[in-house]
Amino acid sequence: MLTTLNIFFLNICIIFLILSFTFYLLRNRLPIQQDSKLSTRLYFGFANGLTGILLIHNSIIINGAFIDLRLLPLALSALYGGPVSIVTTGFLLMFYRIVIDTGESMTALQTSILTLISFIILVLLCTRFIKHKAALFTVIVTIGSLLVLIRMLMSDTAFQAWQLIFAPYFLITILASLLFYRLSRMLQDHFVLYSYQSYLATTDQLTRLANRHVIMDKVATLEQERAPWGVILFDLDYFKSVNDQYGHAVGDAVLRHFSVLLTQECPQDTTVGRYGGEEFIAILPNTLRVSPDQLAEQIVATVMRTPFVMQDHALEITVSAGVAYAGHQSASVVFKQADTALYAAKQNGRNQSYVYTS
Ligand code: GH3
Ligand code: MG
Ligand code: MG
Repeated sequence: MLTTLNIFFLNICIIFLILSFTFYLLRNRLPIQQDSKLSTRLYFGFANGLTGILLIHNSIIINGAFIDLRLLPLALSALYGGPVSIVTTGFLLMFYRIVIDTGESMTALQTSILTLISFIILVLLCTRFIKHKAALFTVIVTIGSLLVLIRMLMSDTAFQAWQLIFAPYFLITILASLLFYRLSRMLQDHFVLYSYQSYLATTDQLTRLANRHVIMDKVATLEQERAPWGVILFDLDYFKSVNDQYGHAVGDAVLRHFSVLLTQECPQDTTVGRYGGEEFIAILPNTLRVSPDQLAEQIVATVMRTPFVMQDHALEITVSAGVAYAGHQSASVVFKQADTALYAAKQNGRNQSYVYTS
């Protein structure tokens, strides 16, 4: 009895571990559903196939019969990822069944594969008609259990096998499926919330750029790597008068317009962020490859050339930029130097960039 319980909990741990890991890796693609990206559904099916294989290896022995819970990952694949996921899981289990076959009974292998194929076809039919997730899961598990029963009845198993094997199998499967269903829902909800919270914690909501927190993290990493990094601070010119003249909503749209231009102009490896109200920042991790002062000049020129177009007219905007290079000084000093350079650009008449020189 203790061994049976032990293996049962081991099975639950296997399911929990692989499911958590899968949802974590797919956290930016959740929720998994029938119209998720093909690669997501394939991956989900593959992960469940792996769970199924491990469950086959850790089957629960009751009254001399091996009872495994492979039905559950199959049901989960169908429930979340639909046909693509369940076929992937099924294919993996079938492949595995052929690999471990000892060659003793061809009929056993054939029946096993046939049961799996019938199960997948029946489940695919159900997923077309049953849309309520909990109901679908219940139906899938019931179909799976009934197929196992049919298989038993068709084989020459003794009559008491019904009580000795099928009844415990049915009980264990129902218990595990309830647990499995709740667990999968909880885990998915948790990771959906987790990725939403990390998105909120790292992104500026108005411009969708990285926020100050991400910028500081990036700078801390570069400081540790002792890389030759550089910083450009941007500040829109006379932005207050945009708000005063056209209203706050137009001001917001101008900020978004500028962030699009900034992102387009900066190379891939640059971290672009919103530093404050109408102040933006670009951190260049390799000043030898891209020169921050040339990039700053290029951006100032692009912004001047690209007016913000409103319904009835185009609003010309300009930006000033301050550039500083990290040498042996600390990051806070580099930021102060960029700020000093920005101030100089403003003093010099705006719409230009200025490089800090000691
Ligand atoms: P300067 O050329 O010297 O930079 O002048 P400025 O008017 O751009 O600078 P100032 O610091 O006087 O004004 C910045 C304005 O930016 C004031 C503030 O209301 C506005 N602002 C800050 N954050 C936001 C925002 O999220 N949306 C909008 N619409 N305006 C903002
Ligand atoms: Mg400002
Ligand atoms: Mg300004």
